[in-house]
Amino acid sequence: MSNDRTVTVGTATAEPGTAVRGVIPVTTLAGGTPLEIPVVVVNGGAGDGPCFWVNGAIHGDEPEGPLACQIALAEVDPAQLSGTLVLCPVVNVPAFEAAERGNPADTFTYDMNRIYPGRPDGYLSERVAAAHAAAMGPVADLEISIHSGGAHSFLDKAIFVDERPESVELATAMGPGWGCIMSSFNPSGSPMAYMKELGKVGITVELGGRSATSPEAFARVGRELADSILNILRHYAMYPGEASYPSPRYKGQQQALLAPASGIFLPEPGVEFLTMMKKSDPIARIVNVFGDTLASLEAPADGMFFGLRALPNVTTGDWCCFFCKVEGTRD
Ligand SMILES: [Zn+2]
Repeated sequence: MSNDRTVTVGTATAEPGTAVRGVIPVTTLAGGTPLEIPVVVVNGGAGDGPCFWVNGAIHGDEPEGPLACQIALAEVDPAQLSGTLVLCPVVNVPAFEAAERGNPADTFTYDMNRIYPGRPDGYLSERVAAAHAAAMGPVADLEISIHSGGAHSFLDKAIFVDERPESVELATAMGPGWGCIMSSFNPSGSPMAYMKELGKVGITVELGGRSATSPEAFARVGRELADSILNILRHYAMYPGEASYPSPRYKGQQQALLAPASGIFLPEPGVEFLTMMKKSDPIARIVNVFGDTLASLEAPADGMFFGLRALPNVTTGDWCCFFCKVEGTRD
């Protein structure tokens, strides 16, 4: 099938069969430099198809999305692609430059994953979200936002969906190992929620974070996420090759366990990510500087944890464990 359409996102206009870099302009900063979101549009030369949009680093302490995008960009041949692949490696640029979850200069709308579709006349991060949403909304059909455990935690493969069949389908297309598929705890304010408002499909995926940024571990995480981008392209017949899928696929709800005490966070020996456990099975302890146990964390239900704190220093109320209360399997 011939493809005679161009695709424009921000300043990037891509003819069929080309990959073009550009930016989504937001505003100008006090020093006179522009605040803009980098983007690359890969317009397929092999035929028509959907537009699959990948977002990274909405949280600035999560560099896994940018790595996945650059691997996918290097490997996807525009001539063999049907439809369009849009990569936004770093959505929250000021937060990424600070290596913090949010833009430290914006204390009013710090968490950018809670404010979509933003406000064009709002606080600075709201304006970033508004510019991003305005660019993505009319163009994207399918969207994934790549997250991780950031500066404090490691998260293994986990996905949040809105439970529409098309949302679960996109999650399943992430591929082998991605069977922890939970209902979103975040019904508004995220890019996936915005996509749903538009009648389109978005999901939130998690992999990586602290303790997986050593050379081999970070490369592995980027490779796995890039494999998922390629697997999604194959699932939707946008790229040559066979897709593969997770088995089993679990259905559940996230419960984030917060530290009941301050001290040093010590996971119990032998506990494993993404492995079924029983309610009340031990997960971790918090000890004081002398080694006395101050608190224990236990499985709040039958299920599995997909994330653990990887920064041992812990203060009461900090994130410690990301648990999936498993409700069953998806068949
Ligand atoms: Zn995140």
